[in-house]
Amino acid sequence: MKTRLSICVLYPDLLGTYGDGGNALVLAKRLEWRGIAHEVVHVTTGKPVPTNCDIYVLGGGEDQPQSTVTEQLASGRSLHKAVEGGAVLLAVCAGMQIVGESFAIGEGTKPGLGILDVKSIRDGASRRVGELVLEPDAAIATGLLTGYENHGSASVLGSDARPLGRVIRGRGNDDGTGGEGVIQGNVIGTYMHGPVLARNPALADKLLAWALGSPPKEIDDAEV
Ligand code: GLN
Repeated sequence: MKTRLSICVLYPDLLGTYGDGGNALVLAKRLEWRGIAHEVVHVTTGKPVPTNCDIYVLGGGEDQPQSTVTEQLASGRSLHKAVEGGAVLLAVCAGMQIVGESFAIGEGTKPGLGILDVKSIRDGASRRVGELVLEPDAAIATGLLTGYENHGSASVLGSDARPLGRVIRGRGNDDGTGGEGVIQGNVIGTYMHGPVLARNPALADKLLAWALGSPPKEIDDAEV
């Protein structure tokens, strides 16, 4: 089990809708409560992305910042290297679309980073806005996960990816399968803002367990 974790917040200046940067704060707090050493690194526009962090978090954002972040991450390939090396990644909304195969922007389509086998498309349906409730994949958590969604695109998963959960309320990936989000290796994508890890501590602990190499000790989350 690792005794120290580093958490990298990618482009909080461009991708931070609905407080998604809070996901890193939740991870850091849950490590602090357990006495596990950690650091949080914030990478802003134009700055190099480290390849040696244990957990990376990407948030949601508007189309233009989404496009800018994609270009920056594609040029250095640091996130690719980190994930290939076993790092954990949580990518929310625009973040999930960026790390997918491709996403819709304006009237066109832009290649993503290709880390997740998912394509995000504009299908002419109304914008997906509102509360989201899902029954998670059993390997991720028991009980329900909740968040807030606001996205124009639907997301279609390829054969290397599986959904994070089954939508009980809201629209999620909205690809006709009833799925929400993506799991592929140590990468989780989701449309749940919240911040999602504040609303779903079990999901935070799953990411920490992957990064640490074994589940961290229980915390009483009754209040959450
Ligand atoms: N621009 C993307 C969409 O509308 C993502 C939006 C977001 O991150 N809230 O699908």
